[in-house]
Amino acid sequence: MKIPKIQRKYCPKCRKHTQHTVEEAKRKPRKQASKSQRRFLRKLKGYGSFPKENPKGREKPTRKLDLRYKCKECGKKHSIGEGFRIKKFELTKAGE
Ligand SMILES: [Zn+2]
Repeated sequence: MKIPKIQRKYCPKCRKHTQHTVEEAKRKPRKQASKSQRRFLRKLKGYGSFPKENPKGREKPTRKLDLRYKCKECGKKHSIGEGFRIKKFELTKAGE
């Protein structure tokens, strides 16, 4: 799927349609202080069973694409929806 890199979209901050540049969201490192991460680290220390491993041998053919739209006027980034599953994707220049 080809997605144009520059799109005209609604910006919630400017409250009007402006030019947006599209980029893929980067994966952030896990927060060590979050409740679920602390629970996981405590589980790793022992006592009780080892946390379950991810099931192996059946990789998914698609991955989830998470796009961010950056407004050219105010510089704010926002996303639309929760992303979608996609096999292949490519950012193209506007007008192609
Ligand atoms: Zn804006």
